[in-house]
Amino acid sequence: MADVTRFPALDGVSGWDALAGDTLATTPLSGWQRARFAVIGGGFTGLAAARGLAERFPDAEVVLLDALRIGQGTSGRNAGFIIDVPHNLDSDEADPVQDRQVTRLNRWAVEMLREQVTANGIACDWDDAGKYLLAAEARHIDSLKGFTDTLDGLGEPHTWLEGPDLSARIGTDYYRAGVYTPGNVLMNPAALVRGLARSLPANVTLHELSPVVTTTYGEPHRLETPTGVLEADHIVCATNSFTGEFGFGDRYVPVFSYASLTRPLTPEEDAAIGAVRPWGATAAHPAGTTLRVTPDRRVFVRNMLRWRAELCSGPPDLAAAARTHQQALRARFPTLADVPFEHTWGGMLCMTRNFQPCFGTVRPGVHVAAGMNGVGVAKGTYLGRLLADLIAGQDSDALAFVQRAASPAWVPPEPARTLGVTAKLRAEERAAGAEK
Ligand SMILES: Cc1cc2nc3c(=O)[nH]c(=O)nc-3n(C[C@H](O)[C@H](O)[C@H](O)COP(=O)(O)OP(=O)(O)OC[C@H]3O[C@@H](n4cnc5c(N)ncnc54)[C@H](O)[C@@H]3O)c2cc1C
Repeated sequence: MADVTRFPALDGVSGWDALAGDTLATTPLSGWQRARFAVIGGGFTGLAAARGLAERFPDAEVVLLDALRIGQGTSGRNAGFIIDVPHNLDSDEADPVQDRQVTRLNRWAVEMLREQVTANGIACDWDDAGKYLLAAEARHIDSLKGFTDTLDGLGEPHTWLEGPDLSARIGTDYYRAGVYTPGNVLMNPAALVRGLARSLPANVTLHELSPVVTTTYGEPHRLETPTGVLEADHIVCATNSFTGEFGFGDRYVPVFSYASLTRPLTPEEDAAIGAVRPWGATAAHPAGTTLRVTPDRRVFVRNMLRWRAELCSGPPDLAAAARTHQQALRARFPTLADVPFEHTWGGMLCMTRNFQPCFGTVRPGVHVAAGMNGVGVAKGTYLGRLLADLIAGQDSDALAFVQRAASPAWVPPEPARTLGVTAKLRAEERAAGAEK
């Protein structure tokens, strides 16, 4: 038996959640229920796994449980990039065989999501906008060059931009150079996960506000929530940073990051930044600022990385994030210096030391996909789907590749973990310089 002691919490209201419209408002699990499959976690990974299982086993019941409402967890709190090409900035670390396979998997995820969005009319501001990788400091231009070398090696299209060509596209001359790649999608992530949950096959039953508090592994497995009990032959654990709570793995490094969304710009404010087409950018340093100009003319800012061993952040972190975001906004868009943020929130990245996820069957009838390393929209979608294939005994090259790669590296225990991660994050944020 494993008791869960740390649970997801709402670290501020995400702007995407506020804009995404009504929640699903499903009822919590109640009484005693029996299903063939139980999926814990209704983010991108759990939704893909639940759909995959329901399609592979049309006569079986799949029950999906989430501690929060769909769209309130990290999947609905992120920056809304569905990234196709790997992020690695250093061409020395690039592994073309692995990068090519990961790119193929990411594109598969983009197409699976696109198909759902189109077939079910999911209104999530889906935009095939591509993505910029931007450098403000000369020393980080080398990272951009490393990235273009990697893209050249993969035969991936990209455009190098600097000076007026760049500033005309993004409405700021803060950055010295950028690399544009066309395959990335931008969207409202809370609206997307809600739409995916609403359009799950009929043999999936979703219960929100149903935190699993106790798991007993056996035949069948037994999950307890505060209001109900679910017995199942198979459990899929799609809980990313919380996966350790279920007794599976101590190799995750949950890192909080924070985001803010302004109110819509006035026509004058918008004109002052060139009324640019909506765009999204990540930074040439991993601890740098992610930026977006959204279709409804808001500016999105994400930065700040914090280690919180208790797996929840709080008002002091959100206040610090709001200040940092306002500075980042002012530096990039001086004419928007006084535009207020309507929402500031936090969310948890589930990192691993070698950036590899945990994936597979961890004990009879118990399956895990976690450790999405900050790119879980695409990765969670394909790993969730492949986990369903694994359970169904459906082999593929993609499944074999993922199984080979999925081995998160060892992380030292406490207190070395807290000391090490805190020092590393501080060093990374310092090194980010003007990219932050
Ligand atoms: C600020 C920020 C920006 C980001 N930007 C991007 C981006 O642009 N693109 C990208 O690809 N990735 C991004 N990420 C990372 C991305 O959001 C994650 O990789 C992704 O959400 C992982 O999806 P998941 O379904 O595996 O896990 P989650 O989204 O964390 O879902 C896990 C679910 O499990 C539930 N859960 C946990 N414990 C329990 C329990 N005991 N009982 C029941 N339910 C439980 C949680 O409520 C949660 O809904 C960002 C992350 C942050 C924090």
